[in-house]
Amino acid sequence: MSMGFPDVRLRRLRRTSMLRAMFDSAPPSPAKFVWPVFLVEGDNRKEPISSMPGQSRMSADELLRALHPVAEQGVGGVLLFGQTEGGKDEGGSGAFDDTGVVQRALPLIKRAFPDLVVMTDVCLCAYTRHGHCGPLGRDGQVDNDAANGLLSRVAVSHAAAGADVVAPSAMMDGQVAAIREALAENSLENTLLMSYSTKFASSMYGPFREAENSAPSAGDRKGYQASFANLRAALRESQLDEAEGADILMVKPALFYLDVLARLRDRTDLPLAAYNVSGEYSMLHAAAEQGYGELYAMARESLTALARAGADIILSYWAPFYTRIFGKQ
Ligand SMILES: [Zn+2]
Repeated sequence: MSMGFPDVRLRRLRRTSMLRAMFDSAPPSPAKFVWPVFLVEGDNRKEPISSMPGQSRMSADELLRALHPVAEQGVGGVLLFGQTEGGKDEGGSGAFDDTGVVQRALPLIKRAFPDLVVMTDVCLCAYTRHGHCGPLGRDGQVDNDAANGLLSRVAVSHAAAGADVVAPSAMMDGQVAAIREALAENSLENTLLMSYSTKFASSMYGPFREAENSAPSAGDRKGYQASFANLRAALRESQLDEAEGADILMVKPALFYLDVLARLRDRTDLPLAAYNVSGEYSMLHAAAEQGYGELYAMARESLTALARAGADIILSYWAPFYTRIFGKQ
């Protein structure tokens, strides 16, 4: 017998749907998914985001309503993005205001959905007048170390309000160590720290910036976010954050960076998150709209790719549509 064709026929293993179901990996369960959401001030506000079909900016009361069907499907968590209207300043102090939208929503969500893992994005860009992720120094660049002090205050205020996970996304050097220390000093040592550890300066964030009103008014973020053309530096970003005490690492965006996910998976035993960003979500909608593919089939294939590449958890705008994408579990 030969070790190849015609004795070996791989089609035998996938001849029927039950054979395929038997040998395929299980799809990622709903518990692996986290839904990123955009909180706004006030009540009864649900404003559709035109560049992200099916997603809205919501006030806390509307978010609670929207979370019911999501939690019912078994989705594991939610990631909160806050913003301020009219309260922007040079240092983004609204981000650590105890009466900010995130700080006020946290106890409401925890009370209504005690089992849901509630995560918060920790950054300043939706709260600074200039839209950068930290205060600007005299040279016009973000002042790294000053940003770390402010980011620590944001993380502590979120954790104190009940966040299960704080997730710094500013890509400042040393931000994880600074936040870990600040949490410890405030007796918040049980709060998980998920670092946006390998976050690229990407063209795939466009729809998000519409949702968050967080586009920089001048310049870009290439001075602090990782370069997509430098794999080694991108991997070092995650390895340093692991050394600084992160509990969970992340690759963002996800679909253009499956190689980075897979390599990081080989280098760390920490849980790995993939952030399936706004542009990745919206491009499938745009393709489906043009008739270039079936929406939920494309979503299923792309999300399965993230799990296959090594993601333990998937942050995705597809989370509320889990059952439509993967069927009943
Ligand atoms: Zn930011």
